[in-house]
Amino acid sequence: MTFEELGYNKAVNALINFNEPDYELGRVIIEHRDRYSVQTPNNTFQAEITGGLRYTAESKSDLPAVGDWVKLSVFDDKSAVIHEIFPRFSILERQAVGKFGEKQIIATNVDVAFIMQAVGHDFNLNRLERYLTVCTASSIKPIIVLSKIDLIGREEINQLTKSIKARIKDILVYPISNQTLSGYEKLKKTIISGNTYCILGSSGVGKSSLTNNLLQKQKMDVNSVSESTSKGKHTTSHRELIVLPEGGVLVDTPGMRELGITGGSEGIEHTFGKISILAKNCSFNDCKHMEEPGCAVLEALESGELDQASYENYHKLKREQAHFSSTIAERRAKDKKQGKLYKRIQEEKRKRR
Ligand code: GDP
Ligand code: ZN
Repeated sequence: MTFEELGYNKAVNALINFNEPDYELGRVIIEHRDRYSVQTPNNTFQAEITGGLRYTAESKSDLPAVGDWVKLSVFDDKSAVIHEIFPRFSILERQAVGKFGEKQIIATNVDVAFIMQAVGHDFNLNRLERYLTVCTASSIKPIIVLSKIDLIGREEINQLTKSIKARIKDILVYPISNQTLSGYEKLKKTIISGNTYCILGSSGVGKSSLTNNLLQKQKMDVNSVSESTSKGKHTTSHRELIVLPEGGVLVDTPGMRELGITGGSEGIEHTFGKISILAKNCSFNDCKHMEEPGCAVLEALESGELDQASYENYHKLKREQAHFSSTIAERRAKDKKQGKLYKRIQEEKRKRR
């Protein structure tokens, strides 16, 4: 295997200047509880991090994650120590469960995300936009994959594609069927050696089917990268970073699956749908549904048509969205501004004394 086949491309090269004969360059392919599987062109190592790295880590983000390029010192053909994590050109992360404000890394150094949505009643532009926001915030190029097109006619496929492009500018949309493999040739052309991909989307849209189909050819090649412990087994269930037989790397971590499909967020989607329908009847176009006269959402709340919990959930989501969609730079600017405001108020208080 070459470094390129492992996902080493221009974006990585721009951040890494590796020229140390005593060390090796590798990529984290699995995160275990207390160690990492790290792949180099010739070997898979079980690696621990140096004590220094552990003690200087201020948060989980400073520890290795799947997709990271790391500097290794090697003991034998199986074990190694991670000395350094190289800068990441993209970080796919989410809000850590139950810890507001704390981020959890799902994968790093991903070039392209296939945002997958199936045709039919699951099709939802709002949800697509939410995944797009995640990609934009993570510096990952999004590509939309419309799956299960075997279930509808050509005319309907064109209409769905049009509706996506009308709402979302400059986006590639690939309609595919995992069953008939229609659309696969075009989609596969977007997958090139040196790049790293991930598939995002709700449960049941066909992510596993696409992954399995992409892996189908030359299973032997896939296995040649698998851990020495699973030699001979035709299983990739444990891999979180897979080198595809026809080139390209696919990341598939457990966190990827949970992104956007947690119970809470599905509920929010539902709420969102209902409120946006109600909102069409609000007196003001820019109604915030807080206290405005002639607000159809507040009326529905009053009559019990919309339950209080859903309504509160909606506002909570809105606030979270506003918070997380603002870029780090914006957030810093805001924090600074608030910091200045705080100082000014303190100063004025002092003067008044
Ligand atoms: P995942 O949860 O996103 O990984 O979705 P799966 O790949 O497990 O697929 C969920 C279900 O949808 C399975 O029953 C698949 O057989 C079915 N499925 C996946 N892709 C297609 C498709 O393109 N067409 C049709 N008709 N069914 C599909
Ligand atoms: Zn309103």
